[in-house]
Amino acid sequence: MQPLVWLPRPVVHEMHLDADKWYDDETGGTFMGYWADSNVAVVTASIPGGPHAHRARYSFVPDQEWQQSEIGRHYLQSARLDTYLGDWHTHPNAACGSLSCKDRACLRKIVNTPSARNVTPIMILMCGNRQSWNLHAWVARLRRPFIFYDQLIAAEAVVQFYG
Ligand SMILES: [Zn+2]
Repeated sequence: MQPLVWLPRPVVHEMHLDADKWYDDETGGTFMGYWADSNVAVVTASIPGGPHAHRARYSFVPDQEWQQSEIGRHYLQSARLDTYLGDWHTHPNAACGSLSCKDRACLRKIVNTPSARNVTPIMILMCGNRQSWNLHAWVARLRRPFIFYDQLIAAEAVVQFYG
């Protein structure tokens, strides 16, 4: 079954504003929320890239220290219900919504970082150009067919909007 990601309309609006503002550099942010069941993720909030994020034509690196403290703040504010779900970033002028090698490496790193507490990270790519972006959502996990080998599986998810 294809995974489903629910996005609040105000969050999508913020994403579009940020994508337009930095075009044609990449930009992005982080999602907070919860899994309603093993296949359905509900995003409740997004955290922007932060004051020291690096945005360039082909790369985006968030201000991780700042994001980390924002993630902690949201987590407490939500009575420990909303956790770090994943991230989004733009691929300006990209026609196709597939993950880059760098994106896959980033997902693998998240899964392998115990403190991230996220073994099924979501990654949403916003592809296109100013005022015309398409969302492509991916849910990743590691499959370990052999003890010294793991394989990153990324399933394309359906995006639905609410709120
Ligand atoms: Zn990317």
